[in-house]
Amino acid sequence: MTFSCSQSNVKIFKITDKTLEIAKNYILNDQLVAFPTETVYGLGANAFSDEAIRAVYTAKGRPLDNPLIVHVHKDYDLSTLIYDDNAYAKKLREAFLPGPLTIVYRSKNAVSDLVSCGLNTLAIRVPSSESAQRFLKYLNLPIAAPSANISKHTSAVTAEHVYEDFGDTIPMILDGGRCEGGIESTVLDATGEVPVILRKGLITAEMVSKVVGNCVYAGNASELNKRSPGTKYRHYCPKTTTFLFEKGDYEAVKKLYDVSVNQGKKPLVMCTKKDEPYLEGLNLFSLGENGCQMASRLYYGLHEGERYDLLIGIKFDVNDEVTLSVENRFLKAFASSESSN
Ligand code: AMP
Ligand code: MG
Repeated sequence: MTFSCSQSNVKIFKITDKTLEIAKNYILNDQLVAFPTETVYGLGANAFSDEAIRAVYTAKGRPLDNPLIVHVHKDYDLSTLIYDDNAYAKKLREAFLPGPLTIVYRSKNAVSDLVSCGLNTLAIRVPSSESAQRFLKYLNLPIAAPSANISKHTSAVTAEHVYEDFGDTIPMILDGGRCEGGIESTVLDATGEVPVILRKGLITAEMVSKVVGNCVYAGNASELNKRSPGTKYRHYCPKTTTFLFEKGDYEAVKKLYDVSVNQGKKPLVMCTKKDEPYLEGLNLFSLGENGCQMASRLYYGLHEGERYDLLIGIKFDVNDEVTLSVENRFLKAFASSESSN
């Protein structure tokens, strides 16, 4: 099936009733459609179809033991998909959904087995962005959607980022502009007596505790590995040479910057607002001054860094849980850095 479009890039479509109908046709034919959410772009596939789910893993180059999150619209009947074992999950849905919180439940195995990679659980998210809701409502299907990036690469926060990764390998990208949330949803396991956060995000343990009395972050790496296999993989890495420096190490940053400029290279420094006065005259991408701003800007900045020969990161203070979630992605993105001081 091919469709033409008046925009210069034929894969990227504004969301209209007409393009949603086209998207539905693709999804019902086991093809992939990228769509915007409030966090990052998702690569959507029919969760009931083995073939569609296989196509997701292939397109992303995603390891086959990294389970997918299923996305549904806000009125979708969850009882067709999962067992709602713990009363606190309802309270969390009422407090935070639609929004950037994915909840893991015991699965009824209604969707393809490949979605959860053999786990007996299913992760479900109800995104708040109007575009995502419109897409999901139009389809009225559970849509498995990992972040719309090639595995290990920085998550996409614009339709163009999606296109840069997938080009012609997917038929359609729905364009909802730049994602504001910026980092992926919090993943919370609601299968036990106490809610456990498996992946940090904009909804924090403190926020969850205020609603249901308690919440913990999953313990050590091996526990996380077992409960949420995707967390063990490398993630978020920009396609450029990266360097990472300790907080406030401005002399070292400037030295590397000058050396690279003298070699004819173009560097970019990723910093926070607090660092800006110490780095005047350098090419800067500032993440801003608080956790939400930093979350919103991180992936965009990592993509910007790809237009430069090297991206220099500076570690930052972590005084709140949202900044901790940003730091989690930031350190993974820079984990392959050439030099780490
Ligand atoms: P991504 O698709 O890149 O947003 O990553 C999805 C994340 O959700 C990974 O960290 C997975 O390990 C996690 N996840 C998905 N399904 C489950 C599940 N059933 N149980 C635990 N974690 C899950
Ligand atoms: Mg991802």
